[in-house]
Amino acid sequence: MDKLGLDSIERQIQRGFRWLRFMPEIEAGYRQEFAEHRIRRAPLWAVVGTVIYDLVFFGDATMVPDQLHALIFARFAIFTPFAILATALVLKWRSARNYDLLSLAVVLLGGSLPMLVAMHSTSEHLFIYQTGNVATFLFLVVGLRPRFPAVLSGLVSLCAIHLTLCAQIPSFGEISYQGLVTFYITISIFLALGAYFQEHADRMNYLNRIRATSLHRQLEVQSERDELTGLLNRRSLARVERELWQFDQSRSVSVIMLDIDRFKLFNDVHGHLDGDDCIRAVARTIVTTADDRSTVFRFGGEEILIVTPDIGCDEAAVMAERIRRAIETLAIPHRGLTPSGVVTASLGVACGQTHDVSLQDLLRRADQALYDAKKLGRNRVSTGNVCLQRIS
Ligand code: GH3
Ligand code: MG
Ligand code: MG
Repeated sequence: MDKLGLDSIERQIQRGFRWLRFMPEIEAGYRQEFAEHRIRRAPLWAVVGTVIYDLVFFGDATMVPDQLHALIFARFAIFTPFAILATALVLKWRSARNYDLLSLAVVLLGGSLPMLVAMHSTSEHLFIYQTGNVATFLFLVVGLRPRFPAVLSGLVSLCAIHLTLCAQIPSFGEISYQGLVTFYITISIFLALGAYFQEHADRMNYLNRIRATSLHRQLEVQSERDELTGLLNRRSLARVERELWQFDQSRSVSVIMLDIDRFKLFNDVHGHLDGDDCIRAVARTIVTTADDRSTVFRFGGEEILIVTPDIGCDEAAVMAERIRRAIETLAIPHRGLTPSGVVTASLGVACGQTHDVSLQDLLRRADQALYDAKKLGRNRVSTGNVCLQRIS
């Protein structure tokens, strides 16, 4: 789900999913969530289902007393241990397919066992006794709720088993049997349709949820990025500050404030569109020239901020000088600027320990150093007190 694009989700919503299947990358996430949700409830259904199933023992005693021993054996010695074992297995090997198989196995065994025994009874209450099987149909579709193919095959198998066994009971006349056929097939159709629409709605909810999550993530990323350069914007500075200043141990942090020289003039001479291209090119160069540990922000119009943790003052000044030279080497023509004739930038550097200074202090000092660099003639790096030698 993490790498799932908003485009794929939108496409899936538009395309629909009549066959209750998504494109593979979405289906995998749905399957996983389905398995987690259903398997979390499996122990509850195992307890409720088995207790009710075993309590029907009282119905056996009153309606089918001549087969009571065999029915006790079927309920307590076969079905109950099977249900416990199957639930334990699915809790160990958790997957949507195993859950579907568990649901099918439990209802098919639970539905057929009592009827296999009861069909040998001579009780006159057999007709009313078999109606208890409706509970098995409901337990599958309303309780366990496996995926639709499992629901469908479960209903078809339950009908087939049940009607086959009932056909062997001589006391059921033709009319009663036809009534049973109509009854079980009708409820199976209604239950199957209900299960289809329910899964369709579940899947739609899933798509809407992952769409909202994906949209939220995209907005979060966009709100942190500057549109023109793709750099982080000033708003995201607070997050980076929290990350750096929250450490118990003091860390050295350097801040470099960069401002393009005579950029108003650049816009006047070359136009704003070329101005935008220039800011983009300078930003790209800074990102590739800065240290791997650096985070680069577009601080203002043509002011760029480079924050680097775990770096000494000398190293930061060397990096600033490397950036200054890289921008100059780009050789973007600046017809208004003499004598260089190319775009240049001035940089102010400040550094300190996180336990001694706040980010605001460092920004103020870097800004002051930048002002010094401008005053001293631009296209240079200033560390506040000492201005590094300009290499032209
Ligand atoms: P200095 O050397 O003192 O920095 O001179 P400057 O002209 O660069 O002065 P300043 O930094 O104050 O000017 C910034 C100019 O940058 C003003 C504005 O026209 C321009 N600018 C700010 N944002 C953008 C932008 O997104 N695109 C373009 N094309 N220009 C911008
Ligand atoms: Mg400026
Ligand atoms: Mg400027």
